[in-house]
Amino acid sequence: MLKANYHTHTELCGHAVGKTMDYVDKAIKLGFKELGMSDHAHIPEYFMTGNEYKHNYLDESMTNDEFEKIYVKEVIEAKQNQNIKIFLGLETEYLPKFHNYFADLRKKVEYLNLGIHFFNYNGVNYSTYDPLNSELILGYTDTAIKAMETGLYKIFVHPDLFMINYYSRDNYRGFDKACKYCSKKIIDTAIKNDIYLEINVSGIKNSVKKINGKSEYLYPRTEFWSLVSNTKAKVIIGIDAHDPLDFEGQAVLKAKQFASQFNLNMCDFIKF
Ligand SMILES: [Zn+2]
Ligand SMILES: [Zn+2]
Repeated sequence: MLKANYHTHTELCGHAVGKTMDYVDKAIKLGFKELGMSDHAHIPEYFMTGNEYKHNYLDESMTNDEFEKIYVKEVIEAKQNQNIKIFLGLETEYLPKFHNYFADLRKKVEYLNLGIHFFNYNGVNYSTYDPLNSELILGYTDTAIKAMETGLYKIFVHPDLFMINYYSRDNYRGFDKACKYCSKKIIDTAIKNDIYLEINVSGIKNSVKKINGKSEYLYPRTEFWSLVSNTKAKVIIGIDAHDPLDFEGQAVLKAKQFASQFNLNMCDFIKF
């Protein structure tokens, strides 16, 4: 079992079940020492077109009102618990054009997780889950680098998500020169800015696919973590829980097994 988890959602995001206390209770039962709550932060509609907003399911997520009145309240209440250390966090995106919005979010919580589910490239917002080619993954990478260099973020969650639907002229989901270039850039920037890279348990649970005839996770992606191997990059396992039961799922054990095949600088806890 893990000693801590800093990647936890709640029902407020619209695609998870359970309130903060349900996650806290489960974490205590399992003997976690620390728990970070990191629900998806609200993204304002004016950040993109109406179609882009819907395409990224942003209309279902937590509102700023729910954040202030429910989320923060629940987490502060949970902090009273003596059996576990609770941290108030958020998972959010980064758009350089709206830097101040993300800087303001950072002031309202104890830490931010960077999760790039969409990114702006040449004025268009792309979903990370869309089929991306070698040019578009540069857009993801550029956003990742700019975000990590702001100093706002503690953990880059599922940093390798950009390859989930990657395609090149002669290969679908292959790991080519462009993937390697982007992976290395991300890893180097994380090291330089002291940001934890996350092995995402939700990917282990939900993203097993055949790649070149072999069963692989689309993320965490073996080739990416091979490049992290033997570097100083700090690595953490993040459950990305959308249900309290995710804390004790088989996928957590599989994530540990996945990590153990590389020489990674694994961290049980985050230094705040
Ligand atoms: Zn989510
Ligand atoms: Zn998440």
